[in-house]
Amino acid sequence: MRAYSSHKDIIKLVDKVGSVGIVPTMGSLHEGHLSLIRKALTKNKKVIVSIYVNPMQFDNSSDLKKYPRNIKYDLQKLESFNDILVYTPDDNDIYEEDEKKKKYNFGQFTKIMEGKIRPGHFDGVATIVEKLLRMFNPSDAYFGEKDFQQLILIKTLVKKLKLKVNIIGCETIREDDGLAMSSRNKLLDISERKSAVNIIRLLRKAKQLYKNSTLEETKRNILKDALLIENLKLEYFEILDLSMISDFLEEEKEIRAFIACKVGKIRLIDNIVI
Ligand code: AMP
Repeated sequence: MRAYSSHKDIIKLVDKVGSVGIVPTMGSLHEGHLSLIRKALTKNKKVIVSIYVNPMQFDNSSDLKKYPRNIKYDLQKLESFNDILVYTPDDNDIYEEDEKKKKYNFGQFTKIMEGKIRPGHFDGVATIVEKLLRMFNPSDAYFGEKDFQQLILIKTLVKKLKLKVNIIGCETIREDDGLAMSSRNKLLDISERKSAVNIIRLLRKAKQLYKNSTLEETKRNILKDALLIENLKLEYFEILDLSMISDFLEEEKEIRAFIACKVGKIRLIDNIVI
């Protein structure tokens, strides 16, 4: 592992490598991130891991400020990996001075759930991902299903802009009790951490209920249950048939349940196939 703050230094090193993968992250690395890196290393000779808390994708300045950052700890976690180049830029290595996020129009799917609750978030994500993909020209890029709407957004971006890169979705890695790993989990206090396990419980309950009830009944039941959970405030619970939102994605036969909520002050999201 070696770390670089300039993209030009990385480009020089990967220019003739052939098969390069990229794993974009915002740091505070956990097993979820590491699973993406391991998967990338099985297919690519070199893997670029970017660690950058992208201000453009935060719709809320206090959320940006309190987002956990610990680059020293991240580099320690990556120390034992061979064949990875860690990209740790500052804003100037990515954006021009006063650069604004691009405005994309990728249709209805980016306007619901995260797109609705966090205005401008997906434009910020697409801006940084497009930049990273054009910068390094990787053959493969890895994203977690935990941020499923983001994964679809990136697949759409690549398709619409005709970028030559495979977007590879990776399964959600969970703690032993089922809570999806997230950099934000470390911001939870002990009682909030106990409440947070209810996110996956609600999703799993939805899966059970949906076997014998309608979508509306399932939703109503879950919304009612969520009201009883201490510390937890639901922002949305949705069940979506992916064939309704995309005519080209391989996941199109899936039906997924999605949750976003605040546990205490910490915002968490998760989803499963149901
Ligand atoms: P982040 O640092 O939160 O922006 O995440 C960087 C990448 O890791 C994104 O593609 C996420 O979807 C993915 N990721 C985050 N948490 C998990 C997880 N628990 N399991 C799998 N992938 C994850």
